[in-house]
Amino acid sequence: MPSEKLVVVGGSLAGIRAVEAVRKSGHVGPLALVGAEEHLPYDRPPLSKAYLDSGDNPEAPQFRTEEYLRDELGVDLRLGMRATALDPARKVVHTEDGEIGYHTLVIATGAHARSIPSADGLAGVHTLRTLDDAEAIRAGLDAGARTVIVGAGFIGSEVASAARKRGLPVTVLEALSVPLVRSIGEDMGRACARLHHDHGTDLRCRVKVTSLEGANGHVTGVVLDDGSRVDADLVVIGVGVRPATDWLKGSGVRLHDDGGVLCDATLNTGIEGVYAAGDVVHWPNPLFDDDMRLEHWTNAAEQGALAAKNALNPGEAKPSATVPYFWSDWYDSRIQFVGVPKADEIRVVSEETGDDRFLALYRRGDHIGGAITIDRPTQIMKYRRMIAKRAPWKEALAYAGVPA
Ligand code: FAD
Repeated sequence: MPSEKLVVVGGSLAGIRAVEAVRKSGHVGPLALVGAEEHLPYDRPPLSKAYLDSGDNPEAPQFRTEEYLRDELGVDLRLGMRATALDPARKVVHTEDGEIGYHTLVIATGAHARSIPSADGLAGVHTLRTLDDAEAIRAGLDAGARTVIVGAGFIGSEVASAARKRGLPVTVLEALSVPLVRSIGEDMGRACARLHHDHGTDLRCRVKVTSLEGANGHVTGVVLDDGSRVDADLVVIGVGVRPATDWLKGSGVRLHDDGGVLCDATLNTGIEGVYAAGDVVHWPNPLFDDDMRLEHWTNAAEQGALAAKNALNPGEAKPSATVPYFWSDWYDSRIQFVGVPKADEIRVVSEETGDDRFLALYRRGDHIGGAITIDRPTQIMKYRRMIAKRAPWKEALAYAGVPA
């Protein structure tokens, strides 16, 4: 590996995997990790799960200690430092605290949570992306808040689960017909909706929030487009994210309409030495002949390592060929999805076999393109391997135990 200076902007999952991977594969040159948050890099999935479940001061889910990163990996750790611009001609990242030069760069700035307009300035209203957000939400739950979630996506639904585990009243407001309809489809969304109903969460679909109400600067309720109102002491907004790329505007790095960074299959941005990884990336995934941007833990971890290795060794750059995988924990159930939801047919296998643990398979052409399970933790990886090798649809059905 060359002894060039690698700078990674974004001190979270993709960023930490980038610095670890290049050290492990023998990079001896300087390595800097620039992160806007003051915290040491930490893991996000626990923030909407175990971190909210109980009030007993849970520890921050840090990936590594500061000593390990600085002393063992030799990382120049620049925390609490936001990148403000990129100048690829001079090979310089501008930050709030001055410039950092690089030979090769990995952009791993992930995404920011979106909000809704009337949320501004009201206490008790939060999005959930950071440790600070999770602390604020936990404090609301500790205080026994009547909790309203806007958006029945993964994060909103996990917060609802945590609040119900504490016995708090929870309402989830969803604009579409069922939760997750865009990511997994109608039937599968209905199966997820059942989890909410079975656990006493008041899930209301096809409703739109028109405004939030407050008194003395604190939220008191949510107003819906049918004129009704839901009382609330805590409102969590889970309406998706936008890639954190404002700092790249004008740099020459090409951005997708949604703000993500456009890359080739090797995660190169089209600018020599500049790569990207994780939630921020749009790239052509060779396994699907599709451009995609994922917001999944496994992808960010894989791409962080790959982008950094490709940046330092462009002659041997490998494509990011991955079968998307995510999981989400709702109440006592684990939902897992592999592949892509775009399908010519979806077979809800568990209805055919009479199994109460949900399984559905997605057909694309004559092969399997996706699978979703609830509470079948080991089986899903078998389907992931089938999707990777473009296994025939018949093979997937045979494995699931149903006729073709
Ligand atoms: P991020 O984690 O967003 O990190 C980007 C980092 O870059 C941040 O620390 C940010 O502060 C920093 N940054 C941004 N802009 C700048 C700048 N200009 N200068 C310097 N630094 C900057 N995935 C699953 O598959 N399963 C789950 O169960 C699951 N649960 C989740 C629960 C929560 C609450 C959240 C928020 C996410 C969850 N995810 C889950 C998604 C998963 O955590 C993300 O896919 C992953 O964190 C993406 O990693 P990343 O490094 O690409 O981006």
